[in-house]
Amino acid sequence: MTQTTISRSVLETLTIEFKQHFREYLKVLAQDVDTNRVELIDALEWCFDRWEHWRQKFYPEANLVFPFFQSGRRGSEFGHYSTCGSSGQPSVMHIKRSFLMGTSDITVYKLSATQKLVLKADHPNRLAFVDQTILHELVHQYLHEASPDAATYESSESGKNYKGHGPLFAAECNRINQTLHPELGFEFVPVRHMKRSHAKVNDVQRPSCAHFTHGELFFKWDPSNPDLTRDQIIENRRCLEEALAYYGGAVELVEEAEEVVTDFPAPFAADCAEVCIQQLQDWDKTNGSNLLDHFVKAVLEHAGASSDAPLNIPPASREQMQLIPEPTVPSSVDSPTALVDENTVLDMRAVYPISNAANSLAQLTADITASGMKKAAFAQHHFGHKRGDLLSRHLKQLRNAVDELVAA
Ligand SMILES: [Zn+2]
Repeated sequence: MTQTTISRSVLETLTIEFKQHFREYLKVLAQDVDTNRVELIDALEWCFDRWEHWRQKFYPEANLVFPFFQSGRRGSEFGHYSTCGSSGQPSVMHIKRSFLMGTSDITVYKLSATQKLVLKADHPNRLAFVDQTILHELVHQYLHEASPDAATYESSESGKNYKGHGPLFAAECNRINQTLHPELGFEFVPVRHMKRSHAKVNDVQRPSCAHFTHGELFFKWDPSNPDLTRDQIIENRRCLEEALAYYGGAVELVEEAEEVVTDFPAPFAADCAEVCIQQLQDWDKTNGSNLLDHFVKAVLEHAGASSDAPLNIPPASREQMQLIPEPTVPSSVDSPTALVDENTVLDMRAVYPISNAANSLAQLTADITASGMKKAAFAQHHFGHKRGDLLSRHLKQLRNAVDELVAA
């Protein structure tokens, strides 16, 4: 397939003029009586100025056009660069409204299930963080519009599942950070390709370039990497403290206890099982434990099924799994006809399984007592045995198994 380089000539002439007019138009709008609009337009104007600051600093020679800045409420990204906006306008930078305007606290980094970094709403220093996002989007813009590798970037990186955070992006971040980090009082920290598997060997443990420009200020080493050494973890802690000091309180480390439901208050309903399974599954995912399988096993044993039932069931099919199978035997001998079917002679070991010895022993003893029969008659009536010795042997095995469990 032949690669086409998009001609930027149209963008360079007509749209620069157009965008300059557009800025004038925004200024006029800003004099409108609508206060919210004034604040929003002021903020967008500030974005233009910061974009120009970073452009002059890091891309003075590049052939970049003024982007459109827009700020909507939707989406989870703080910032996003598009070559083409929703109305067909070229070169658009979107800065999420709540992020730009500081209308709410924003989680900017999730460290674990209980720890996160939060950009505080209304903090006077918060715009330093937004400013860095504009620099991040400028790098995307440069790689699309003006880089000598633009054609490669468009064809190989922007459409992939790493959203343009590949080797070209990482290289630009590193070039910028070599200047920026010392200026901010930080030691230079390289970033890697968003996909760890694609990263340069030396950078594998470094933070992802997808979090440029704040990720590598917070952490020298990728905190999501489970193989970090003790020294690297200590370095990360120091790094985070320095970064939090740099943001001057605009970013805070927030710790919150994980909400754990420890019991299911009545009234109980059929969906209790669903809630329980979901919570165990979440807990297992976070803590690397295996509680759900133990739970399923316990339910199966309680219901008298074999504990060897397949347990590695993918989550989707768990829903269809019948946790409590239909009883193969009534728990009371009030309905003995169900036990003595002419065509089926029930297997005593299946009804009172050794795998769940404690319950089986209790149930069998209770059933014999409730029947008012002697053991031999019980065995004959219920299981078609000629004598009671098989039943005695099974009872003995159950008692031994229970003794072993107690001893364990
Ligand atoms: Zn990005």
